[in-house]
Amino acid sequence: MILHNIQLENYRNYPKARAEFDPGVNLLVGDNAQGKTNLLEAIAYLGSGKAFRTQKTGELVHFGADFAQIQGKVFSQERQQDLRWVLFSGSRPRQIYRNGVKKKTAGEIAGVLQTVLFCPEDLTVLKGGAAGRRRLADGAICQLRPNYDGALTEYNRILEQKNRILKDRYDTPALLEILPEYNARLCKIGALLISYRARFFEGLAREAERYHRQFSGGKEEFSLEYHTVSTVKDPFAPVVVLEEALKDHLQSHYQAEIESCSCLTGPHKDDFEVSLNGLPIKAYGSQGQVRTATISLKLAQKALMETVSGESPLLLLDDVLSELDPARQDFVLNQITGGQVFITCCEPGRFTKLGKTIEIQQGSIIENGKWRMEN
Ligand code: ATP
Ligand code: MG
Repeated sequence: MILHNIQLENYRNYPKARAEFDPGVNLLVGDNAQGKTNLLEAIAYLGSGKAFRTQKTGELVHFGADFAQIQGKVFSQERQQDLRWVLFSGSRPRQIYRNGVKKKTAGEIAGVLQTVLFCPEDLTVLKGGAAGRRRLADGAICQLRPNYDGALTEYNRILEQKNRILKDRYDTPALLEILPEYNARLCKIGALLISYRARFFEGLAREAERYHRQFSGGKEEFSLEYHTVSTVKDPFAPVVVLEEALKDHLQSHYQAEIESCSCLTGPHKDDFEVSLNGLPIKAYGSQGQVRTATISLKLAQKALMETVSGESPLLLLDDVLSELDPARQDFVLNQITGGQVFITCCEPGRFTKLGKTIEIQQGSIIENGKWRMEN
């Protein structure tokens, strides 16, 4: 898929702007706080209706304006398509249009413009808490498998209700009678989640291993291990087998959950661990290794999406090259040639590839056309 152009109106710090993009590499160059990340955010929002830095639509609207607009021309699914979002600063619901026709939900434009983002916040994922890793994995699986999105939402909904039952049980002891029913539903949907995750992590590990090996010049062996509930011996087992394993696990924690008034166990605690040459990155990884392994994971995610949909998602790289040694920088630049790429940078002189440079200054876009490095 290719994003040909984008038009912004009152989006973040862009009062009005338009950019034409190269089908290959687009360098977004500018000093700090000029609007580079805002432009990447707008591109991702155009396809997904999700802003990676905020949940509040109002923050996307230019200070003092009533509404914002993002519009773009996309080539995907073998045809030209036009996407347009109108966002309001107040409580009025946002509007989505595809080829001029109003749509009800972001789900109706799923698959038109898919993106894989790498941003500096991703660098905390491998070293940080399990919740960040689950978010990364869940986000990727939701894009790959629309049914997973529904199952995950349902699981979280039931989990929230179960939590409420456990919290309210002192005031209303009768609530405990319905607990087994909630547990049964959690096991059923939880088994489905584990099954999806096992397959996703298997594919992700295979691709990321390949990228990381090249990235490190064959010096580092990347491995990824999926951790789920301890009674699940084989996450690839049939869903009914997984469901039974989850039931056993919940049963053994039944009393503890009641005593602690919280949901202790289940796939909502799943995690994955990345190791380099057998050493867990969480404990031993250097900054550069964490960066390299995270980029490998993102490139792997992109490769999986290509396999499933047959199209290359857009790669959005925010501040990806800093702190990498020259060999690793070159590797990233060589790997990003497949598909359309947007890469932000404060120092254009570091790039050694052909591409289009788009200069960004205080919320306006200055296009320099084809740009060549003279070295
Ligand atoms: P850096 O190189 O530091 O990452 P950047 O070019 O990526 O900088 P952005 O994150 O895109 O910068 O932000 C540019 C500016 O946009 C910020 O200074 C911020 O204050 C401003 N901004 C964010 N939201 C709005 C808004 N709703 N209205 C107006 N300006 C905004
Ligand atoms: Mg930025």
